[in-house]
Amino acid sequence: MTGAQHTQGRHSADLGEHRPRQILGTCYPESTEEVRQTVVSATRTGIPIFPLSTGRNWGMGSRSPVYDDCSVLDAGRMAAVRTLDLDIGYAVVEPGVTQRQLTQLLDGTPWMLNVTAGCADASIVGNTLERGDGTIRPRIDDLLGLEVVLGTGRVMTTGGLDRNGRRPGAVAGPDLTRAFVQSNLGVITAMAISLIPRPQTTILVHATFTKSSLLEVVDAMIRVGRSRNASDGMLRLKDLFVVPEAGRAAIPATADVDAVTVQVPLLGSRAAVEHTETIIRETFSRVHGLLSYRSLDTAETATDDPLYTRTLFARGIPSCTNVLDGLGVTSCSQVDRARIGRLMFLPVVPFRGTDLGKAIELFEVEAERYGTAGMLEFNVISQHSTNMVTQIPFLRDPSGVERAHELRRAARRSFLRAGFLPYRSDIDHEPWELSDRSADYDDEPLRMLKRLYDPAAIIAPGRFLVSDR
Ligand SMILES: Cc1cc2nc3c(=O)[nH]c(=O)nc-3n(C[C@H](O)[C@H](O)[C@H](O)COP(=O)(O)OP(=O)(O)OC[C@H]3O[C@@H](n4cnc5c(N)ncnc54)[C@H](O)[C@@H]3O)c2cc1C
Repeated sequence: MTGAQHTQGRHSADLGEHRPRQILGTCYPESTEEVRQTVVSATRTGIPIFPLSTGRNWGMGSRSPVYDDCSVLDAGRMAAVRTLDLDIGYAVVEPGVTQRQLTQLLDGTPWMLNVTAGCADASIVGNTLERGDGTIRPRIDDLLGLEVVLGTGRVMTTGGLDRNGRRPGAVAGPDLTRAFVQSNLGVITAMAISLIPRPQTTILVHATFTKSSLLEVVDAMIRVGRSRNASDGMLRLKDLFVVPEAGRAAIPATADVDAVTVQVPLLGSRAAVEHTETIIRETFSRVHGLLSYRSLDTAETATDDPLYTRTLFARGIPSCTNVLDGLGVTSCSQVDRARIGRLMFLPVVPFRGTDLGKAIELFEVEAERYGTAGMLEFNVISQHSTNMVTQIPFLRDPSGVERAHELRRAARRSFLRAGFLPYRSDIDHEPWELSDRSADYDDEPLRMLKRLYDPAAIIAPGRFLVSDR
C-alpha cells in the first residue's frame, strides 16, 4: 500500500467506443515520491500501472489503458507549476497542470503558451507525450526536459532539467528526453517546456479554396511554407471533409464538403507580420480556386466572428468552444458520452502535393467502403512533413461503431502499405506500431531499454514497447 489515494474501478466511458478495458483500480498520487512508491508497490504485486495526466485522450482511448487488468495511475492531482521563469521563458509543470492554468499565470507577462485546439482543461504533459499539435508548432518542439520515475523506482531527469526544477539550458552528454515520448519507459512527473515570446502583433490568415483545386492549393502552401519567417505559427490545410452518403448523418450540418481551408497564424512585429501576410495573399490570389481570403488582427476580432475561437488559439488562449460545438455537449466532462462518437487516425504524410493527394484518395476509398465520414487536416510540422489528423465521426449504434473501427483499421493498413506510417496511435494499435514497421527498422535496442528501465514490465504494458514478460 502506498500513500497515494486509491479507488476501485472497472472501465470508463470512451468517445471512441474502443473495447472497454478491465481496470483494477485508480490511484491518485500527489507527489513524485508517491508516484515512486506506487511504482515500487506495483513491481511487488505484479499489477501493472497505466499513467495518465488529465485523461482526455479523446478518439485514441480516453482514460483506458492499452491492456486489461491494469491499475490507472491518474497524475491529475499533481498540478503544480514548479518553475515559471519569466526572464528566459520556460516553465516546469506537473502532469495535472492544464492549458487554462498555465495560460492564466502567463496573462500580462511577455510570454504565451503554444495551446492546442482541444480542451482548455487538458494537460500539457500528456498531450506533449503523445506528440500533440499546438496552434503555433508541434508540442514536441516545446519540450525541453523531463523528470521521470523509472520502473526500477529511480527518479531521473533529462534535457538539462536539474533535480531542483531548474533548466539553465541543454547540458553536455546524451539526452534521453525523446525516449520517454510515446513509450512506456517511465512515469513522467514533471516536464520543462519552452514558452513563446508574446508578439507585438498576431494575424490569422484564413483562406478557403474549392476542393477541386487541391493540388494547386498544396503547391501554394509549399511556396508559402518555404518563404515564411521562422516565428510564424503552424500552417494547416483544414476542414477537408470526406463524406460518403452513409456517413453524412455524423458530420456537422455546417460542413462545406466542396471547400478546403488553409490557415496560418503570423506572429511578430507589425511590419514583419504585414510583410509576410502580403506575400501569402499574393501567392493565394494566384490559385484559381480561391473562394475567400481573410487576414484577422487577432487582438481586434469580434467575439461573434465565426473565426473568433481560432484567433484566441493564435494568441495562446485556450478555449473549449471548438470541442463543445464540434461534439454538441455543454461541458468537456460530457465528451466521452457525446451523442456522436469520434475516432482519430493519425499518419504522417510527406509535405508534397502528390503525397497529400494520395493520402486523401486512400482515405476516400476506405471511407466509401465502410460508409463512414472523415474530417481531415494536414498540419505542416516541418518543411518535410505533415501530421494528418483524421477525425472519424460516427453514430453510436452498433453498426456505426463497427464501421468506424473497421474504417480506421482498413485505412491504417492501406496507409502502411503506401509508406504513410502513424505518427500517433491509439489503445487498439499501440502494441503493433513497432512490429508493423519492423521490416524497415531495428527496434531491438528500444526493447533493451525497456528491460533495463522497467524490468518487471509494470508501466503501461502494450504502449508502443511490448515486453516479453
Ligand atoms: C474535438 C477535439 C479536438 C482536439 N484537438 C486537439 C489538438 O488541437 N491537438 C492535439 O494534440 N490533440 C487534440 N485532441 C486530442 C486530445 O483530446 C488531446 O491531445 C488531449 O490533450 C489529450 O489528453 P490529455 O492531455 O488529458 O492527455 P492524457 O490522456 O492524460 O495522456 C495521453 C497519453 O499519454 C500517456 N501519459 C499521460 N501522462 C503520462 C505520464 N505522466 N507519464 C507517462 N505517460 C503518460 C498515457 O499513455 C496517456 O494515455 C482533440 C480531441 C478532440 C475530440
